[in-house]
Amino acid sequence: MASARKVIIIGSGPAGYTAAIYAARANLAPLMFTAAQWGGQLMLTTLVENYPGFVEGLQGPELMETMRKQAERFGTETLAEDVTAVDFTRRPFVVRVGDTTYEGHTVIVATGATPKLLGLPAETELMGRGVSTCATCDGFFFKDQNIMVVGGGDSAMEEALYLSRLGRKVDVVHRRDALRASKIMQERALKNPKIEFVWNSAVDDVMDVDRGKVTGVRLKNLKTGGLSERPVDGLFIAIGHQPNTGIFRGQLELLPNDYIKVKPGTTETSVPGVFAAGDVQDHIYRQAVTAAGTGCMAALEAERYLEATQPH
Ligand code: NAP
Repeated sequence: MASARKVIIIGSGPAGYTAAIYAARANLAPLMFTAAQWGGQLMLTTLVENYPGFVEGLQGPELMETMRKQAERFGTETLAEDVTAVDFTRRPFVVRVGDTTYEGHTVIVATGATPKLLGLPAETELMGRGVSTCATCDGFFFKDQNIMVVGGGDSAMEEALYLSRLGRKVDVVHRRDALRASKIMQERALKNPKIEFVWNSAVDDVMDVDRGKVTGVRLKNLKTGGLSERPVDGLFIAIGHQPNTGIFRGQLELLPNDYIKVKPGTTETSVPGVFAAGDVQDHIYRQAVTAAGTGCMAALEAERYLEATQPH
């Protein structure tokens, strides 16, 4: 086993790469596990117009490629591996990829969250081509068009309300006849004249894969089993996110919704020397720029922790 690294970063979205840029520039020679599928959620989006610094916007994968090059330019070592286990009870901390073990004096967890999907093949095929999991990112592309939102929680209401300011009409499809969302969000959505609710219904299929864009949706009434079609230009799936915290269960304190618990205003987890940045610890903002911000915080906090605990 190689000697312990000063900083190990797990995850390669905006939080991970920003942490890497800061740690590498501080001469901490970070080792980053990018996962086999690197780049995080931005790899699934198209045009990103709200990341500061790019007047005309840029494609999500292009933004991630830029961050990757910037992190590597300062000496970040990357491994395209999925971390399979960690042991934060030992010091240095242990990070495992299968049978191979790595050690780090600090670890920055930036494994992100995964938007839950309906599980339809067409949904995956049309992701970024009319199907989206982020209204703030993609709503702008559906100005004055027909939009559909799936879900009955606060996220779905928030997405529907946001999209109602852009689209011609917003249909909210929910699988029950009662919303899970908070009262205030329900009231706002229910009284919005642009929002129509389709109750007891599920999306059964999304058209049109052959044309490479969303043209409509087939709905199934879950009470009657009846099928119907609606013309739609944009389909927003808002049925929740799952933070990627499986390997940290039992190692780090998690919130009841499985996100990593951090000390407010910091990226400190329940284990001193382990920091969490980005969506894995943020179920509220979930933006690339906020993820990058907390990635920066994590690197600075790791640097400070090393200075205090690892005499030169
Ligand atoms: P959520 O509260 O878990 O709601 C998910 C919704 O999606 C539920 O209505 C659920 O239906 C539906 N759903 C789940 N799986 C589905 C499937 N396979 N097919 C169809 N529908 C499905 O998730 P969330 O809305 O993302 O909210 C997560 C947390 O963040 C909550 O605590 C929420 O309050 C908070 N949040 C707050 C705000 C805000 O205050 N502004 C904004 C966003 C999120 P059922 O109801 O039938 O289970």
